[in-house]
Amino acid sequence: MPVLRVALDLPLHRLFDYLAETASVADVGLRVRVPFGRGEKLGVIVDVVDGSDWPVDQLKPAGEILRDLPPLPRDFFGLCEFASTYYQAAFGEVVMQALPVGLKRIDPPTRRNGRPAGISAAGRRPALTAEQTVAVEAIDPAAGFSAYLLHGVTGSGKTEVYLRLVEQALALGRQVLLLVPEINLTPQLEERVRARFPEAGVVSLHSELAEAARERNWRAAFGGEASIVLGTRLSIFTPLPRLGLIVVDEEHDASFKQQDGMRYSARDIGVFRARQLGIPILLGSATPSLETWANAQGGRYGLLTLRERANPEARLPAVHVLDTRRMVLKEGVSEPLIAAIKERLARGEQSLVFLNRRGYAPVLACPACGWVSRCTRCAANMVLHLADRRLRCHHCGCEHRVPKACPTCGNQDIHPFGRGTQRLEGWLQEQFPEARVLRVDRDSVKSRKQWEVMLERIHGGEADILVGTQMLAKGHDFPKLTLVGALGADAALFAADWRAPERLFAQLMQVAGRAGRAELKGEVLVQTQYPDHPLFAALVAHDYPGFAAAQLKEREQAGFPPYAFQAMLRAEAPVMADAIAFLKTAAELPVIAEHDKVFIYDPVPMKMARLANLERGQLLAESHSRPALQAFLPRWREAIEGLKAPSKLRWHIEVDPLEF
Ligand code: ADP
Ligand code: ZN
Ligand code: ZN
Repeated sequence: MPVLRVALDLPLHRLFDYLAETASVADVGLRVRVPFGRGEKLGVIVDVVDGSDWPVDQLKPAGEILRDLPPLPRDFFGLCEFASTYYQAAFGEVVMQALPVGLKRIDPPTRRNGRPAGISAAGRRPALTAEQTVAVEAIDPAAGFSAYLLHGVTGSGKTEVYLRLVEQALALGRQVLLLVPEINLTPQLEERVRARFPEAGVVSLHSELAEAARERNWRAAFGGEASIVLGTRLSIFTPLPRLGLIVVDEEHDASFKQQDGMRYSARDIGVFRARQLGIPILLGSATPSLETWANAQGGRYGLLTLRERANPEARLPAVHVLDTRRMVLKEGVSEPLIAAIKERLARGEQSLVFLNRRGYAPVLACPACGWVSRCTRCAANMVLHLADRRLRCHHCGCEHRVPKACPTCGNQDIHPFGRGTQRLEGWLQEQFPEARVLRVDRDSVKSRKQWEVMLERIHGGEADILVGTQMLAKGHDFPKLTLVGALGADAALFAADWRAPERLFAQLMQVAGRAGRAELKGEVLVQTQYPDHPLFAALVAHDYPGFAAAQLKEREQAGFPPYAFQAMLRAEAPVMADAIAFLKTAAELPVIAEHDKVFIYDPVPMKMARLANLERGQLLAESHSRPALQAFLPRWREAIEGLKAPSKLRWHIEVDPLEF
């Protein structure tokens, strides 16, 4: 009797066998109900075979095979197989996370599908600049696999390059997957794409879509009715029967990295997928990740460059560094920055003050006894949010009312220390009572919808001064914005995290890129106590390549990625000693001795050593050879699975970790 090999959503690295009298290989890729434990589960048929490694008389019969969807294709399984192997994730979990919730339900609806081809563009298309033309001509959607980095300064018209390539792919009857960062996927972008390709069928896929809409869009993509899929990282797994081009916009963006469950990089999976299908992939950014930049410099990716802004009237903003060592600051703001804001107000232009720290103040403290507002569950301070009079932990979300007096000594004179966006907003409003000050951060913008409303207000000129975090740094055009002031940049300069300078530079470049996008000239003022730091020299010169070269040299000398390949084993438990002891055992497993190209460090507590009442430790495995690390990881994982751990201990492996 035929045996179904079924992928189930379980953290186990194996398939599950069931009997199915009438099944055939044509059923591979269909969903199936199967008995599991005392209940039923929905799984995906990965294979239909004749025998089983299990005694066949012990196998249970499968339930109904669902036929409302065409079978998931072979390349989809190939993609899941790759992700499972590369990230040490259970294959069944990878397969099931790729399906929208509605399709994992036990009760199936029904639908059908069709496929358009040879779609053309409509609407106004600007004539390409010379640099854009070179970029568009370099990539041929019909010519097989190739990976390109499109390095274009902010406002250089990267989007137009994407749209022209989309046009070419559609003309060939292919589908396009356009990946964008979480915050950039707005209906405006969807509208823009829809207006350009009115017949293409454009669908979006992101985590905030209602369940039904997500299922509808996923079906349209999989069924081929939609030729353009605009999505955030989760959309990289969508099976697309005619996929002909992948574009990753703002490829450096942290939101392409999934930070829980299966910890994967959608950008890196994108490159694998393009290679698997023999199609081009284009990664675009003004500030590429150093990994991607190194790939482009090393010739593994083609490099396409846009040096000029697309709008000939718009020039790159003039960046100036303000040496705050010689200045009197009021609430952290320097005199020249205040004067510059005043000038913009007088001219009816917008200013943006960038401070990447939300809340009123990062901590509340008692000067009498030294008490500070610590989170009881995390190794972190509780941030003061004056607007709703709460102390809030930005890591675990727990919160309290602001105490009237010091909880330790009863002193009523407790003070906020440092400043966040709320405090800055209040102070700027006092300084410029006639101005409309608008704060943009995770507290004022909690959903996609609120973000859209906020963008509309800014575009509609409803704000004179914007105060915001990195939310404001992302690729949006604010035509009246001519001044950007950046505060608090120094914290990242000497951070223990060696990726901090890369992130800071990208943030400052991106936020600076908001200024002077239209005819009005832009100016950027960065406050620092270290005006001679090379990072600022590169920023003033708009010299990403110079900055990247210096950073890569440092990393090469230190043996950091991209010159080394890493995987992190993390363990969390109610007490740190348990986590560390577990990691220590993992660090001494016999299998390690068989892999001499992999180096295992000592277990250490994580930088955020305690989160939501769990203590967290980590253990780094590193190699100069990617294949050596990849050969080691599955064997190490299996050995770790065999270890006895305290019942409350949880562990996972993260490949290519970004945070430590
Ligand atoms: P980027 O994504 O590189 O920051 P955008 O694609 O947002 O840049 O383009 C910046 C601005 O230039 C937009 O207003 C866009 O409409 C305009 N633009 C892009 N390409 C051209 C072109 N070839 N001619 C004129 N304007 C263009
Ligand atoms: Zn006190
Ligand atoms: Zn906390």
